[in-house]
Amino acid sequence: MIKRLTIAIDGPVGSGKSTIAKLVAKKLGYLYIDTGAMYRCVALKAKKEDIPWTDEERLTDIARNSSIKLENTVEDGEPKCLVYLDGEDVSAAIREQDIGQGASVVGKISGVRRALVPLQREMAAAGGTVMEGRDIGSVVLPSADLKIFLNASVQERTRRRHLELTEKGEMISIEEVIREVTARDEQDSTRADSPLVKTNDAVEVDTTGMSIPEVVEKIISLAHERLDKS
Ligand code: C5P
Repeated sequence: MIKRLTIAIDGPVGSGKSTIAKLVAKKLGYLYIDTGAMYRCVALKAKKEDIPWTDEERLTDIARNSSIKLENTVEDGEPKCLVYLDGEDVSAAIREQDIGQGASVVGKISGVRRALVPLQREMAAAGGTVMEGRDIGSVVLPSADLKIFLNASVQERTRRRHLELTEKGEMISIEEVIREVTARDEQDSTRADSPLVKTNDAVEVDTTGMSIPEVVEKIISLAHERLDKS
């Protein structure tokens, strides 16, 4: 039987994680799991219920008692991940800019992480998984078969993030996006619980100046190397 790998992809905002992870999963026929979407769901629900993102107790309660489901699908040949919160399709709503910032605030709460991490491990348990986030190689799946740390220069990440938001019709200046990227970098890498780190056994891929297919190919060839060794 062919072994099916567990692949962890971590990296900062705008490093290309989602785009790359989805394509790698599709090529390998693996399940794609977007853990950021889960933190975004918690932030979205709190916003809808008028609960401040810093209210640790109530946010933990939301994380513990909400139904968050991720579903892989293909639309016009493109891999997509649909996100359901308490049965409602929130795939678009969680992508709004303020929800990204909210997710970063919510991600600092240990109670929220303690509720979401076991769900993430459960989803990956069968193998044949590409999971992306901030703490996948370090905390969620420390024994993943392949760990990738995706990175790119701040300028490049800001440019990508700006393009992503404006393509969705959000009116936002490049200065505002620089502020968002820098604030989330700072928040995600300095928080006490599960900060964004590159583990010693992760392969760092700097995607500045690389095309999407180039990055995908690089990761696929690393995956084949691991499969050949197993
Ligand atoms: O990856 P994405 O931008 O959707 O993540 C939104 C936020 O969720 C991140 O800025 C981060 O603070 C948080 N997050 C996290 N741990 C993960 C994935 C995302 O703390 N595994």
